[in-house]
Amino acid sequence: MADIMEYQMFIDGNWTPGSSGEIMEVINPANREVVARVPRGNKDDVDKAMASARAAYESGIWANKSIDERAQVLMNAAMLAVANKDRLAYLESLTSGATIRRTTTVDAAEVSATLLLAAMTAKELPRVEHAVFSPPWVAPMHSYWKREPIGVCAGITPWNFPLILAIFKIAPALVMGNSLVIKPASITPITTLELAKLLSDAGLPPGVFNVITGPGSSAGNYMAQHPEVDKIAFTGSTEVGRQIAHLAADGIKRVTLELGGKSPIVVLDDADMEVAANMCLLAFLFHSGQVCESGTRLFVPRKMQDELVERMIAKIKKMTIGDQMNMETDLGPIASEDQLRTIMDYVQIGENEGAQLAYGGNRLTAGIYEKGFFFEPTIFINCNNQMTQVREEIFGPVQCVIPYDDEEEAIAMANDSIYGLGGGVCSTNANRAQKIASRLRTGTVWINTWHVLRPDAPFGGYKQSGYGRECCYHSLLAYSEVKHVCQDLTPDGSEKLLNVLIGSNK
Ligand code: NDP
Repeated sequence: MADIMEYQMFIDGNWTPGSSGEIMEVINPANREVVARVPRGNKDDVDKAMASARAAYESGIWANKSIDERAQVLMNAAMLAVANKDRLAYLESLTSGATIRRTTTVDAAEVSATLLLAAMTAKELPRVEHAVFSPPWVAPMHSYWKREPIGVCAGITPWNFPLILAIFKIAPALVMGNSLVIKPASITPITTLELAKLLSDAGLPPGVFNVITGPGSSAGNYMAQHPEVDKIAFTGSTEVGRQIAHLAADGIKRVTLELGGKSPIVVLDDADMEVAANMCLLAFLFHSGQVCESGTRLFVPRKMQDELVERMIAKIKKMTIGDQMNMETDLGPIASEDQLRTIMDYVQIGENEGAQLAYGGNRLTAGIYEKGFFFEPTIFINCNNQMTQVREEIFGPVQCVIPYDDEEEAIAMANDSIYGLGGGVCSTNANRAQKIASRLRTGTVWINTWHVLRPDAPFGGYKQSGYGRECCYHSLLAYSEVKHVCQDLTPDGSEKLLNVLIGSNK
């Protein structure tokens, strides 16, 4: 067994122990071994981090730098992320259960790509925009507007993609000149702490970026209502997102919410069956289904259900489930025992409600699976759109197949959900697919593919999947305010305007 890694919080540019002295253990979900310890941060620690972020912001040490200077620090951090990609990938896999094959190729690269993209996109944003029209009733005036930072931002992130979901907040917040305090999920905090080191080494001034580790129900909840916070960016469950929106409302804080999903896949009758099988597997098995945009409601023409499911099962049987740290593993463990129990409960509910189990349905416990949280890929067929496991987010490797007889009926069912994060269409006819894409009420629609989140394209939800967008220039807008400055260029303009608007200065 490797040595247990000891981490501290990152506050005001320093590694800082928690004020209570209490710690939280971080485990490897494949075998439950403790791999790291972090402080259990509390309200006092949140206060310290917020004070540091506020002081850094008000000092102008970062906010008053030019966008080019800030972009340079992000680009330095991107280079450091490239240099440290193996370490980041290793720690991400070890604690989240993500396969090492994926984290070494995708997650670590996404960190540097997101930093670089944010830097380059910020440099391209118009620095100042000018009005081109002066109303005839005012004297010649110069009106211009520009983007300014919001102030102190708070980020709260979940356990499924700790690195990527943190960098989606860090890159735009920092390049636009804000200070930021992040709280990662309690079971996967260490890669966010590693990002603090990279950013500090890249030249970020102390206090601009802080990391608090601690329970969401106390430290996270307190962050969301903290008087120093101007904006909250949250990724996680719809239930907690709703609480955060309420907490933020009192202070009229800016809020971005990226919440749950139950994304529909509409397979059309002209679909290529091999493409459909691959797309539908990708949609629900990536990271063992622990992904907010997973495609887990599969609408398929009734006559195609059997063949599609047979093809999917044949492919699942060739997949390797096991230790996520092994390069040959396709599906790693579920991230926590709590999440495993949730999945098992939903599978039981599905069976009770009459869904037909076509494959899987079981926790794996023998041999190498004994100590970890492993669950088989699971496919229910002949479901209907009203069943509990079809309506609620399971966050596990469970696919619900719903046969349909009429395309209009399928689109209506696809949209009949409180969620609206992802959606997909499988078809060999590009026009037909795009027409259906435009009718799905979701923030992203994939055609013949799934899970492509690009740092250069917006990501976010409709309906109860949240509001605001992450990635690309949309995220830069979400981390900035717009200030309009209007200047009278004439000596007697205000006198004339007074006459026009009030008329008391004749
Ligand atoms: P949560 O929404 O509970 O947690 C996400 C983050 O919010 C974590 O950092 C958590 O901290 C924090 N948090 C928890 N409660 C509060 C609170 N009251 N105020 C402020 N912050 C809080 O998700 P879970 O991790 O518990 O997962 C539950 C379900 O949420 C999953 O089964 C899945 O359906 C969904 N989910 C969706 C995600 C998405 O990407 N959209 C990501 C993760 C989960 P802590 O870790 O300390 O509890």
